[in-house]
Amino acid sequence: MQRIVVLAGGIGGARFLRGLQQAAPDADITVIGNTGDDIHLFGLKVCPDLDTVMYTLGGGIHEEQGWGRADETFTVKEELKAYGVGPEWFGLGDRDFATHIVRTQMMAAGYPLSAVTEALCQRWQPGVRLLPMTDDRVETHVLIKDPEGDGQKAVHFQEYWVRLRAAVEAHAVVPVGADQAKPAPGVLDAFAHADVIVFPPSNPVVSIGTILAVSGIREAIADAGVPVVGLSPIVGGTPVRGMADKLLSAIGVETSASAVARHYGSGLLDGWLVDTADAGAVPEVEAAGIRCRAVPLMMTDTDATARMAAEALTLAREVRA
Ligand code: GDP
Ligand code: CA
Repeated sequence: MQRIVVLAGGIGGARFLRGLQQAAPDADITVIGNTGDDIHLFGLKVCPDLDTVMYTLGGGIHEEQGWGRADETFTVKEELKAYGVGPEWFGLGDRDFATHIVRTQMMAAGYPLSAVTEALCQRWQPGVRLLPMTDDRVETHVLIKDPEGDGQKAVHFQEYWVRLRAAVEAHAVVPVGADQAKPAPGVLDAFAHADVIVFPPSNPVVSIGTILAVSGIREAIADAGVPVVGLSPIVGGTPVRGMADKLLSAIGVETSASAVARHYGSGLLDGWLVDTADAGAVPEVEAAGIRCRAVPLMMTDTDATARMAAEALTLAREVRA
């Protein structure tokens, strides 16, 4: 059985995984999920990226939105607002709240996040093994221009992304705690036993970049001795959805399919898929020592996404040969 390990953020990672499951129905898939976006709200631990993967693969996702639960209601949020209790900018629905209550309760009882995630997945049966990148606390902070002065200040990633809609200038992105964090149980083993490692079209800075920042993970991938292939989250010079370009600028990387590949580098990546719109970037990526192909990379539906996943697996076989 083919063992595939995928590093994943939220929406981009989750949608890709659904296509991968269709393209490789017999594969054993392990997902290493980003937890740098995690935040405490109303006393509850919220893990947006893990939940997006779990809900998407488990059939509970709000399809159009890409995150949160289908058939959601917002009574708790309205009641909190009536008490004047915020923040209001982070939308948690009633169904979603239950997930965070269960998670927080289990963690208060002493279970690590990896065990809690496994327990939540018993309900959702995502068909993959979903592991948080670490059980330790890692929090992505963004250094922005202080709106009330000339200086800079660090804000939680969610505050920058959701409340400020990435509309303020970002100077740096810091995965606080990542260098002290240990990979969660099973993570290093998954790389060691993988047949192929895939970087889906997830955010290269705050999803894949954060996972790679956890101590030992980058090295484990580079040393795994198996093909590592990625799919560009940038198509035609723009992130297909979201504001990843703002974060790429903050870390000094151009918003292009080729620049993202070169940012990961040939020490990590063996193969890279760009969209057909970026076919012109292929020679540049190959000159950087990364095998590159141009194929359609728009996840318009599961069939199209499954074709992308199949192309990634084909490229992995090619770079191995
Ligand atoms: P998040 O945590 O919800 O932001 O999700 P991810 O980090 O997993 O993925 C977000 C990235 O997915 C965005 O930065 C987009 O560039 C990328 N993305 C979204 N839809 C598509 C698509 O259809 N095709 C490609 N190639 N990339 C996409
Ligand atoms: Ca995310």
